Amino acid sequence: MSSPAPSNDSIKAILADLIAFDTTSYRSNLELIDYIVEYLAGFGIQAKVLAADGQPKANLVATIGPNVSGGVVLSGHTDVVPVAGQAWTKPAFKLTEEDGHYFGRGVADMKGFIAVVLAAVPLFVEAKLKTPIHLAFSFDEEVGCKGVQEMLPFLSQHVALPRLVVIGEPTSMQVATAHKGQYVAKTRIVGQEAHSSRPDDGVNAVVVAAELIGFIDDMAKSIRESGPFDDAFSPPHTTFNIGPISGGSAFNIIANTCEFDWEFRFLPSEDGPAITERYQQHFEDAILPAMRAKFPGCSITNEVWAYLPPLKAEPGSDGESFAMALAQRNASTVLAFGTEAGHFQGLDFPTVVCGPGDIAQAHKPDEYIDIKQLEACARFMRRVTEAMTA
Ligand SMILES: [Zn+2]
Repeated sequence: MSSPAPSNDSIKAILADLIAFDTTSYRSNLELIDYIVEYLAGFGIQAKVLAADGQPKANLVATIGPNVSGGVVLSGHTDVVPVAGQAWTKPAFKLTEEDGHYFGRGVADMKGFIAVVLAAVPLFVEAKLKTPIHLAFSFDEEVGCKGVQEMLPFLSQHVALPRLVVIGEPTSMQVATAHKGQYVAKTRIVGQEAHSSRPDDGVNAVVVAAELIGFIDDMAKSIRESGPFDDAFSPPHTTFNIGPISGGSAFNIIANTCEFDWEFRFLPSEDGPAITERYQQHFEDAILPAMRAKFPGCSITNEVWAYLPPLKAEPGSDGESFAMALAQRNASTVLAFGTEAGHFQGLDFPTVVCGPGDIAQAHKPDEYIDIKQLEACARFMRRVTEAMTA
């Protein structure tokens, strides 16, 4: 006899509670974490709260069942993106139900998944699991996956090697086995200020920035033309973008400083670190020596402030087959957006992304989720339970 899936009522009640905590990434998530700690304690589960380094935030990890290998990790981020400047017609931090949908910030990305997981906890507890179900909830995913990186050492030391990690980002309950990686960096140039009529007395930091941006654009063009390519992705190659730039103070002053942000999203098959190394090597060898020969105080630094490892597909692996069985799917998919999944895969934990809702509704005003998606996720949790008791 199959065990019941978590009920719609309990999912709705928990989701309403979760939405009511404004956990926009720049705010604390501690009230929400406390709520989950208390909720789990009600079922005799002692959660481990991992306080963030220097911020009023925390990750949470809990294990249900014996901490042996072969379990399933259910993971989600607790933060949400800002609502400021968005035209919401419904309350952002209060759950609204309308026409088979729930509205509120985070219902799709990704408190809906967390609500289903929590609503399934009584089922997990009653099931007398032979292999464990671990919960891993992070902070600061939306601002560069910072929280999960602080969680990784704990997971590798205290969580027995799982059979599968499920990152519940919205995939409409499809099993996603790959996504691109991402580097985000800030380049800072210090030149030498001088009157614009005396170019030999200065080094123009804006001109140096233009050269560097040209180099990045050349890399982008060459990859676009020559690959590597992977047709599973759209576009099927690594992409680059230059973000905000600022420098100089007046048209008649040789610019002393300039800085700009840039990023690239790379195929799992591409060597991401090699791209930043190539860039670094270029300015150290081809640009900086001439600047320093003129003025030793000149500098160029490139600070990588966010790094998202790609998720690499492992076709035919036990993890992927198991995930597809749990989701009752015959085929997997790839994602156009990044997630924390690559960080888990970096621990050699088999990892997929599979969660309720559609990413198209994430980060938008009047964010919503189809209640049927939550029901499908609840059935997924029932199958997880059955697999862990088999
Ligand atoms: Zn998300």
